[in-house]
Amino acid sequence: MKAITVEPKKPGTARLEDVAEPDPREGSVLVEAIAVGVCGTDVEIVEGKYGWAPGGKTRLVLGHESLGRVLDPGPAGSLKEGDLVVGIVRRPDSVPCSSCAVGEWDMCRNGQYTERGIKQIDGFMSERWRIEPEYVMKVDKSLGLLGVLLEPTTVVTKAWEQVAAVGQRAFWDPRTVLVTGAGPIGLLAALVGKQRGLEVHVLDRAESGPKPDLVRALGATYHTGSATGIGFEPDIVVECTGVGQVIADSLRAVAAGGIVCLTGVGAGGATAKLSAADIAAEMVLRNTVVVGSVNANKRHWYKAGEALARADRSWLARLLTRRERPEDFVRALHRTPDDIKVVVQFAEV
Ligand SMILES: [Zn+2]
Repeated sequence: MKAITVEPKKPGTARLEDVAEPDPREGSVLVEAIAVGVCGTDVEIVEGKYGWAPGGKTRLVLGHESLGRVLDPGPAGSLKEGDLVVGIVRRPDSVPCSSCAVGEWDMCRNGQYTERGIKQIDGFMSERWRIEPEYVMKVDKSLGLLGVLLEPTTVVTKAWEQVAAVGQRAFWDPRTVLVTGAGPIGLLAALVGKQRGLEVHVLDRAESGPKPDLVRALGATYHTGSATGIGFEPDIVVECTGVGQVIADSLRAVAAGGIVCLTGVGAGGATAKLSAADIAAEMVLRNTVVVGSVNANKRHWYKAGEALARADRSWLARLLTRRERPEDFVRALHRTPDDIKVVVQFAEV
């Protein structure tokens, strides 16, 4: 079968090639790939900056934002042939740490977790893949191809759960949220913010293209410029850019008693004038919280499935701005300014 593979930490090694059929030891559920979403992590792996091959191998099958159709449900569980499914990405570490031991692998303490398509387990960019029944999520059939948005939705579902958990430290009646960045994570964070009944504002540098319209179609407000220039102090900021200046502005913009949830991963940035003691002083005097959030556990996968099932299908469909064939995967890795989510499509839904 065909698969998109890469030799991690070696740029320029990604290719579509013939590989063996998936090993039954990888799981009793056999799935036909329909589509796999591409994100910044995939680009980093292909550029040789990130990623680990499975033990004893040199190449890794890429892809972690899956959607597939069950070919063989295997002996266990309630799956049926033809069900639309998505594979959970992370696996608990083998020690396990205290968090992984209770199924909260997203909170892994020792960093020895593994991840499909990223860290030591083959991903989902192959014509067929196998998975353990306990790591398969069935998706609402009416979502069709939109089920490929489940994985990024789990990331924002966890972030929102973190915000709610932190909010419980005191009286908490949030009204407004600012989402920084109108990429897939930012737009899905805005969607969930609306579902939670908040007044949603989204900030991005794009002045045209699909992002402003998508934000307005949600009933949210679109801003360009700086987080400190939006005219009010948001109760919550969900930071989805990882850009130093945007993070610094978010810390200044958030209301007293507010929460800044960081979901973006970046490096460097224009923060030379921001000293740690100054940030701390502001946080102390204003009771603000900054919380980082990554990945998702099974609870978030269930909740994300519910959030997607409730969402407007035509709005979700506008997030999928491009589909590429496996042989054109290199094109899928190059994002244009108007792209939101690009998918590699292996089969029709
Ligand atoms: Zn762990």
